Amino acid sequence: MPFPFFQKSKKPILARCHDDQVTKMRLKYNPYYHAMQSQRGTEITIDGRPAIMLASNDYLGLSFHPKVIEAACAATRKWGTSSTGARISNGSRAYHLELEEKLAAFLGREACHVHAAGYLSCVSAVACFAQKGDIILADKNNHSSLWDGTRLSHAQVERFSHNNTADLADLAESLPPATPKMFVAEGVYSMEGHIAALPALLDVADRYNTFNVIDDAHGFGVLGRQGRGTVDHFGLNDRVDVLCGSLSKSLSSTGGFIVGSRAVIEYLRTHSKQTIFSAALSPGQTAAAQAALEVLQTEPQHHERLWQNTRRYRDMLHSLKLDTWGSEAPAIPVVLGSKERVYRFWQALLEKGVFTVMSIAPAVPPGKDLIRTAISAQHTDEQLERIADAMAYAVKKL
Ligand code: PMP
Repeated sequence: MPFPFFQKSKKPILARCHDDQVTKMRLKYNPYYHAMQSQRGTEITIDGRPAIMLASNDYLGLSFHPKVIEAACAATRKWGTSSTGARISNGSRAYHLELEEKLAAFLGREACHVHAAGYLSCVSAVACFAQKGDIILADKNNHSSLWDGTRLSHAQVERFSHNNTADLADLAESLPPATPKMFVAEGVYSMEGHIAALPALLDVADRYNTFNVIDDAHGFGVLGRQGRGTVDHFGLNDRVDVLCGSLSKSLSSTGGFIVGSRAVIEYLRTHSKQTIFSAALSPGQTAAAQAALEVLQTEPQHHERLWQNTRRYRDMLHSLKLDTWGSEAPAIPVVLGSKERVYRFWQALLEKGVFTVMSIAPAVPPGKDLIRTAISAQHTDEQLERIADAMAYAVKKL
């Protein structure tokens, strides 16, 4: 089918859109922006047929928890649908403060600020604290939000090899000692499922008096006591200046958070453009996150089930000799090495009723083209068996 918008244009910027190879490839393979027609937990309907969702970040499966749904509905009835403005002006409500206090207490920090997206929290966690003249030491595989924060800060950026303490040490030693420095890494890497080697990395970083920023979007709810995250898992709370994360993963809502000392959070509230010039979290989103945070602390079975499912699923992938890139988390990639293999594997899984997400270069390093899968506490034994059958079928098809 011809795409009517692929036409020649005299406008250079419009021509760029018309000629874009990535867009053309997306339309050829059609792997992204698939809209589900229905969902109930991990059972979805996509392209008109039923499938198991195996790519959600709803790790604890709380998105359909009755308490979470009820909290979101009640808050919407009480406060309306929107915050209708930025926190600094007309958008601040008592429900924001309640969630912030609870998150700060849970994470053992003085203060917290919540944003309408995890992306905003992570951009501002870097952009607001680093400035021109500073140096940012960043893991090469950091999330796009952290790179955007880096660019917006106007600081000098120095990358170290992914999770590589020796490379960080060499890099830090080569830099001018008097220049203020920031260290930026993730707790759990979303694509690879790697847990950051935080104790060793921070041992190095701290020798250079770095301001330490950790994005724990994928470690929160998954690692640490009751799901307090990667920093808690390693007992490094007093070594991390700013911890940021997302409410859209284990807390089954949308939005993001930053925690730190009171001074750091007050600085953010008066200096961060993402905080000052963007509308606040809506009532429903906030209440859902708060209810999920309570469930996380009172119903440990979700956390236990998540890890039980993760181990079982990972063992199954290994028994099929699939390459999981050394993932140690519920986010588990299946590395297939080329976009053609990824596409065929993805299609075979979908044919068998399992929905996953393709990730191909340049989103991943060359030769690491993969299918991103993520396990949830909500996957049942029966679903895990169906997933195993689908994986075996996809391996055969390759
Ligand atoms: N950081 C990381 C590591 C992420 O994976 C994501 C989302 N995939 C974000 C930040 C942004 O979070 P959100 O989607 O809630 O905006």
